[in-house]
Amino acid sequence: MDSGDIMKKWLALFLAAICVILLSSCASSFPSERSFFAMDTYMSLKLYGKGNAVIANAIQGDAEFFSLLLSVTDENGDIYRLNHADGEAITVDSNIPLMIEEAKALCEELDGSLDISLYPVSSAWGFTTDSYRIPTQEEIDELLKLTGYRNITVDSEQSAVTLPKGMMIDLGAVAKGWLADRAKAIFENRENISGIADFGGTILPWGLKEGKELWTVGIQDPADPSSYFGTLSLTEKVISTSGGYERYFIGEDGKKYIHIIDPQTGCPVDNGTLSVTVVCDSGIAADAMSTALFVMGHEKATEYYHSDKGYPFDFAILDDQNNLYITEGIADSFSLSEGYDYTVVRITK
Ligand code: AMP
Ligand code: MG
Repeated sequence: MDSGDIMKKWLALFLAAICVILLSSCASSFPSERSFFAMDTYMSLKLYGKGNAVIANAIQGDAEFFSLLLSVTDENGDIYRLNHADGEAITVDSNIPLMIEEAKALCEELDGSLDISLYPVSSAWGFTTDSYRIPTQEEIDELLKLTGYRNITVDSEQSAVTLPKGMMIDLGAVAKGWLADRAKAIFENRENISGIADFGGTILPWGLKEGKELWTVGIQDPADPSSYFGTLSLTEKVISTSGGYERYFIGEDGKKYIHIIDPQTGCPVDNGTLSVTVVCDSGIAADAMSTALFVMGHEKATEYYHSDKGYPFDFAILDDQNNLYITEGIADSFSLSEGYDYTVVRITK
């Protein structure tokens, strides 16, 4: 090889290196934007910063993996196998014992308003199959005897779980929060990542918009879920909303029956609450609390807020009298959208 060839080779390598640098800097300035279906809902990601596509792939893969693991209808899912184990111990993915332990602790903290073992009751109302019906009180009473999260046995070392015969569980009330926590762990280990991960009503804004502004997260209008009645400006918190509008049916009696069940009565909640948004550092706690505070209703939820139990959190609760109860930690980050005349009631600690 003469010196001219060597020069050409170096020049080619130099140009190739410049191209790689230019391409990677372009790639990081383009956001990764996608939506996909997992856990029975649409999820979306919009991520900016270096490596955003790889991170979006990891989060989507994680959501799809847990969607299968936690499915109550897919025979290949761990929760399905557990629910059909007839009292036998079942070996599960090592994440499941951790998740159940965390969920049980939240059920314990939330004063009987959260119970991950309500699946037979939800099924009787048809929420798991979309074949809706109103069960008799006797049927509900019989099914309630099968519930009780305290009777779930978890063996983390063996990665095994045992349910009493007849019990079936459903982690739907906490699963999206669990995903948000996992996404948060990924973001925390990356510099310069920003954007919004929306797991279908459980949302994690990260970093700052264009490096300087907080993200704006809309809260759906229960009367028209394609609109937002208000927005919260914040970042690096999990915002989880539970609403009766997500799944419900109108019974032959003309009444509306929603998918959130009161574990004490075995019946769909009917306490005037329309939606509950919880803001918390922990995703699983935000998700658990949005469901549980919905069951409690605004008065009990306010007592719970004042009790300082569990994780610090804030809430915004909308009732059917157009009252929006909002705690002081997020009251100033909240803006009511134009055209909504809700009475905003600020709750101080
Ligand atoms: P979310 O959308 O997070 O409010 O969770 C609601 C889902 O959790 C429902 O679709 C049921 O699968 C389940 N669920 C309903 N009521 C309860 C409850 N009181 N405790 C635990 N899980 C519940
Ligand atoms: Mg929830």
